[in-house]
Amino acid sequence: MASEAIYPGSFDPPTNGHFSIINRGLRLFDRLTVAVANNPNKVALFSVQERKELIRGGLGKEPRVTIDSFDGLLTSYAREKGVHVILRGLRAVSDFDYEFQLANMNRKLLPDFESVFMMTGEDYFYISSRLVREVAEFGGDVAGLVPPNVLVALTRRFGGSPPARLSASAARAAKSAKSPRGRRGGR
Ligand code: ADP
Repeated sequence: MASEAIYPGSFDPPTNGHFSIINRGLRLFDRLTVAVANNPNKVALFSVQERKELIRGGLGKEPRVTIDSFDGLLTSYAREKGVHVILRGLRAVSDFDYEFQLANMNRKLLPDFESVFMMTGEDYFYISSRLVREVAEFGGDVAGLVPPNVLVALTRRFGGSPPARLSASAARAAKSAKSPRGRRGGR
């Protein structure tokens, strides 16, 4: 039987840290579902649909990965999908506390639910979506922390100049599609 796991998260935006976990997860599992959590209590930079497109764009053609989204409890989503293993990444001790609580709560809600953790690589331990958002918002260069499609989307969202390291075509795409900053939140 093919092994399958769900990789849930906010992915706002997806970073190279997330893509590293997806690619390494594919060595453990035959199939992965990357599931974007729709959390109405969090003000998101990108809509759920945009985040799904950013993940697909960053990943390229990978038939073993399905990109989906879910509302409400992860355990309800997992039960509905019939997949009882989730994949999570661990960066630091601070991640451990939260992940430990979450894993135990999820097992309480769904007894045969298992969480599998992958330690982040040394190139990714300091990358978080929150920091990427903050650095990009204030015009810092986040190339190397996110794939080119996410870099373009961040540039558009914050209405900044495309970073110098962006390829000419990507820079043109970002410039021609600049959108006003006021779109943040409220979606
Ligand atoms: P959440 O809001 O569920 O924490 P995130 O998108 O921030 O959603 O993270 C989703 C998962 O990816 C979490 O397990 C998180 O620890 C992991 N993750 C995020 N960034 C990295 C990274 N740089 N390296 C490894 N794992 C990461």
